[in-house]
Amino acid sequence: MFPRGAGPSPAGAGLPALRSHNAALVLDLLRAAGGDGISRPELAERTGLTPQAVSKITARLRDEGLAAEAGRRPSTGGKPRTVLRLVPSAGHAIGLHLDRDELTAVLLDLAGETVAYETRPLDLGADAEAVVEAVVEAAVDAAADRVRAVSDSGGSGDVDGPGGFGSSGGSAGSGGSAGSGERAAGIGRVLGVGVAMPGPLDHARGVPGRVTGFPQWDGYPLRDVLARRLGLPVVLDKDTNAAALGLALREPRESREPGRSRGSSGAGGAFAYLHLGTGLGAGLVLGGALYRGARTAAGEFGHQVVQLDGPVCECGDRGCIEALCLAAVARGDLTEAARVLGVGAANLVGLLDVDRVLLGGRVVAGAEEVFVRGVGEALAARTGVAAEAAAGGVRLVAEGAAQLVLAPVFGRAEAVPARLADSADLVFPVFPADLASPVFPADLASPADKV
Ligand SMILES: [Zn+2]
Repeated sequence: MFPRGAGPSPAGAGLPALRSHNAALVLDLLRAAGGDGISRPELAERTGLTPQAVSKITARLRDEGLAAEAGRRPSTGGKPRTVLRLVPSAGHAIGLHLDRDELTAVLLDLAGETVAYETRPLDLGADAEAVVEAVVEAAVDAAADRVRAVSDSGGSGDVDGPGGFGSSGGSAGSGGSAGSGERAAGIGRVLGVGVAMPGPLDHARGVPGRVTGFPQWDGYPLRDVLARRLGLPVVLDKDTNAAALGLALREPRESREPGRSRGSSGAGGAFAYLHLGTGLGAGLVLGGALYRGARTAAGEFGHQVVQLDGPVCECGDRGCIEALCLAAVARGDLTEAARVLGVGAANLVGLLDVDRVLLGGRVVAGAEEVFVRGVGEALAARTGVAAEAAAGGVRLVAEGAAQLVLAPVFGRAEAVPARLADSADLVFPVFPADLASPVFPADLASPADKV
């Protein structure tokens, strides 16, 4: 179990440096520099902070184990400069992708690399309590795996490559073999849990809406329930938004570095991510930032009517693109599914003038060529935009979910365009309100008690 006062900590409670906006800028540059590292003068130049401020911040980051020296580098004329690097193992985020029939969990390190992952069956149609149990178990297993990895490597915290959380179904037992102290020590550096599921949902309140085919989720306070059970900050977002955020953060680093894109049309540009799996939806990145809409209801792509008086959709309407597309998939006619998807994609490009259309989701992953070609043809007929398969494969959504937690640590809460983040009069909180104030009632039962 998590010892009271040690386990349920707000994100970065043990890492105060994570609460400063300027520290986030420095961390982002350290992350971008990778293993080569970056010197303090370079950090000052790139952030616009004074050398004294940079020294203070880097000292704090080193004290907290977030940054380390990465050797010395000759500098032009002067004495060699010490370079600093991010310590990826200093913090982790859990990402959970709740699909209608399976749950994918990933553990990302601070650098955004996946260190462990697992997919297990899930019935999103079961009652909420049963689903919450399964989700809590997957999150605790993800954190427990981290503990095993730390112990195995003599406490260095480094993990070689991704691995599973252990065998599916038996993992609760294996997780239980770790001592309670060990588990608490591991989860202490888990900054939070990002949860992605089919929309619609209210991201700001962390409450799902009328998920097609799963009415029991409408209005259920999923984020707060999970935060209570896990004792960790939880962020809830649509699967499509999580994927789009993950994709936006994969943009070439040079286009995301502060200063580089000042005055340009925005780092990351504009793209639409179309997700075809057990449902159909879209994630939108406009001007380099994830676009959720005024009521976090943007991207409800699947329920646009493309055939008046068409077949009945599970949402109650007729002729929705999701209904037509899924029906074609069910018939095994993927060419037709791609053609239908292409019509919707062309509508979207016509409406928003995005630069790119990225395709993902389980159905697309199973026949990438068919979908890229079919959607590409529909786009070419009406727009100048191409269709591409989204990078990231089947873990894209889960990794994007973890990025909902990690991105704010680096000042990229909403994949904020660098030119906005640079502006002196705009201060972005390192942690959005819903991350900074998770719910910890006094009568909280430890999550580990329940598994
Ligand atoms: Zn519909």
